Parts: sequence; C-alpha cells; structure tokens
Amino acid sequence: MIGEDLQITIGKRHFVELLTQEAIQNRVSELAQGLHTQYRNLDPVFIVVLNGAFIFAADLLRASGLNCDIQFVKLSSYQGTTSTGIVQQILGVQIPLRGRHVVVVEDIVDTGRTMKYFGKLLENENPASIEFVTLLSKPDCHETVFESPYIGFEIPDKFVIGYGLDLDGKARNLPAIYQLAE
Ligand code: 5GP
Repeated sequence: MIGEDLQITIGKRHFVELLTQEAIQNRVSELAQGLHTQYRNLDPVFIVVLNGAFIFAADLLRASGLNCDIQFVKLSSYQGTTSTGIVQQILGVQIPLRGRHVVVVEDIVDTGRTMKYFGKLLENENPASIEFVTLLSKPDCHETVFESPYIGFEIPDKFVIGYGLDLDGKARNLPAIYQLAE
C-alpha cells in the first residue's frame, strides 16, 4: 500500500480521498451527541457489526459517554438462488435483548439487505426498540427502505475503503475514507 494524503494505491487499484479524517471525526462527534441525548437514561445495548464497524464504533461509543452494554456480531450475507438474501449471525449476541433498547452500529449500508435481515432477527428477541447507526450509506444502491436519524454520510455508489472498511483485509486502519478512482 502506498499512501499519500489524497491518494492510496493497493495492488493495482487507485483510490482518492472522499472524507477527511477531520470531517469523519466531526460527524462522529455529532452522532455521539445525538445518541447521548436520546439514550442517556435508557441503558442501551449497542451491537457492533464486525469487522468493518470496529473503528467507527470505538470512536462513537467512547465519545457518547453513555452507560451501555456493547456486544459484537459477525454477519455474513448469502445470496441464494432466489432474489432474497439471508443473513447468518456468526458471533452471536451474548446477553438477553428482551425489553432492552438496541442500537446496531454498522459501517456502511449498501443494498440494505444485511440490516433488513438482521433487524428481523433482532425483532424476534422482543427488544423495547431497535435503531440503526451507520457511518456511511449509499442511497442509490438501497433495495429496501433504510431510514435512520443516525447516518454519518450519504455517499455515491463507489467502493470505499478506510476507517474500518477494507479491500481484502487491507486499509482498515486508514484514518480517512477513500473511494475507488475510475
Ligand atoms: P448490504 O447488505 O447493505 O448490501 O451490505 C453491507 C455490507 O457490505 C457492509 O457492511 C460492508 O461490509 C460491505 N460493503 C458495502 N459497500 C462497501 C464498500 O464500498 N466498501 C467496503 N469495504 N465494503 C462495503
């Protein structure tokens, strides 16, 4: 990986900066404040979706100052022979969610399939509420309605890396976000 501030090369792929470290940190602070205001008396459970959301979640939840539980899940989506995707929960939630205020922390909502099906799995646990926080959303790619007051940035339909998001395991530790150059 060759890194300059505004351009990154991984193998033969070139990426250009889309969101600066400063822009990300400012937005994460805003999201954290919003969460603090909404959840400060609700003892929420945050469910962090691995791997991509690990850096976002660390910054967000530290900045939120909330008294909360934090759990981790690993989800994998499979596209079957039908058009309906299913989501498998690999690392499951370790505590009961019944009656709890649940907030899912995701890196990026692309088609929205992962969040739609994970939301359905969570509903079966009878939580008091379910909310989604995502750093990034690609509205042009959504196959399903995805609404949340906690969307960090809406971005174009381009592959992005950095700040937790990877290309074949690389680039997750970049402090800014880069998009694939044409
Ligand atoms: P969805 O189910 O919304 O289509 O997919 C969401 C998942 O796809 C994200 O959690 C992420 O792992 C992956 N993904 C979607 N778009 C991108 C992207 O631009 N870059 C990276 N690195 N992963 C992406």
